[in-house]
Amino acid sequence: MATSATHPPSIDTIARALGAQSTLPHSLLVDCARRAVTQAPNDAMSTAQKLANDLETALLTEVINGTGVLLHTNLGRAPQSVVGSGRPTNLEFDLGTGERGSRQTSVSALISLLTGAEAAIVVNNNAAAVMLVLAALASDRDVAVSRGESVEIGGGFRIPDVMEQSGARLVDVGTTNRTRLKDYSKAIESRRNNIALTMKVHPSNFAIQGFTHTTSVAELATLSVPVVADIGSGLIDNTCPWLHGHVDRVPSWLVNEPAARQAISDGAALVMFSGDKLLGGPQCGIIAGRADLVELCATHPLMRALRPGGHTLLMLQSVLLSYCARTVCTDVSFWAMVATPLASLESRATEIVRRSGIGSVVSLDSLVGAGSAPGSTVPSVGIALMGDHGTALRAHDTAVISRTVNNTTYLDLRSVSPHDDDIVVAALTALC
Ligand SMILES: *Cc1c(COP(=O)(O)O)cnc(C)c1O
Repeated sequence: MATSATHPPSIDTIARALGAQSTLPHSLLVDCARRAVTQAPNDAMSTAQKLANDLETALLTEVINGTGVLLHTNLGRAPQSVVGSGRPTNLEFDLGTGERGSRQTSVSALISLLTGAEAAIVVNNNAAAVMLVLAALASDRDVAVSRGESVEIGGGFRIPDVMEQSGARLVDVGTTNRTRLKDYSKAIESRRNNIALTMKVHPSNFAIQGFTHTTSVAELATLSVPVVADIGSGLIDNTCPWLHGHVDRVPSWLVNEPAARQAISDGAALVMFSGDKLLGGPQCGIIAGRADLVELCATHPLMRALRPGGHTLLMLQSVLLSYCARTVCTDVSFWAMVATPLASLESRATEIVRRSGIGSVVSLDSLVGAGSAPGSTVPSVGIALMGDHGTALRAHDTAVISRTVNNTTYLDLRSVSPHDDDIVVAALTALC
């Protein structure tokens, strides 16, 4: 029977060959080679090549967001530059006394100043913030939520499920389209319930239109139990003082977004929001409001599991200081994108097209994204290319993420930092 089978190349030979073109550590290439020889002994080299490629493209890497979705959930929402030099920080060390300190002290003070809250704490994301508030303030008790606000935000965040996990019980009040103050007060007065809180939830990613009525935080604040508000999107103040001098007026898509400062002055006992949506900071969740309630959250056993890392706090602090200094439109990428005038996008697009010798300048509509301002668009300018070049642009050294509609590829420049225009030119030139 013995036909002379050609031996597959040795694992070492394959790994070395892969190493000539790959920056992956040798041990990973050896693993690819080993798996390839087992899976496809007759085609080991090209199989190993594919495994190594797959491994490399799966690595986290920086990309250029040409999609026009300013807070792109798949691209990490608000873009951040990493701060810090590698030295340790005074994360839990009081430089005044030399004693142990709290990691929350600095950001808490800044958030309180910006929102008018008595106190604040930071956790890993807004889902954690909502969970902690419910567990700390309403475990084994009832929380009244409007039927129109018992929502799913996406990524597995559903109000009834979070409520159940926290140990609080959801009491639905009102109807899907109309909920009045009376619906909440009836639920509070009912002897069947033991209502600890009312909760407002911003239905971030959809809008109900027509015959609707919602009850405001100000109205709920007149009831006998505290009102907590999951405002989600994280707008600090709906007058947007940081935009003064940059845009003529607050953009219309922001007008209906709930804001932390206004919710607190309307009487919210606590507000919960994401750090990486309209705030423009790193992924985190913020709980701000009454000092006694924040303290109950801070001392709850779950807090230890939900506390953010030092790097997150450092990046958040930097963003909050920019709000205090009113330098948000230059320092915070998301707000820099929002504040960029159309004329400057247009001249960048013209220059990119001229330099790369491909494409044409077009008007586009950017989206805010991350469930903020659903249905609203922000006027923008970008570059259109005939055909679908999505794959080729993603394969560029620094991947450029575009959008293809009707066999035309679009690069929206509002979501691209001007510092990256040279990379866009190189990626486009490579298509010619
Ligand atoms: C986005 C959002 C959440 C989830 O926040 P994460 O920071 O993604 O955990 C919860 N509630 C509302 C209203 C939201 O908009």
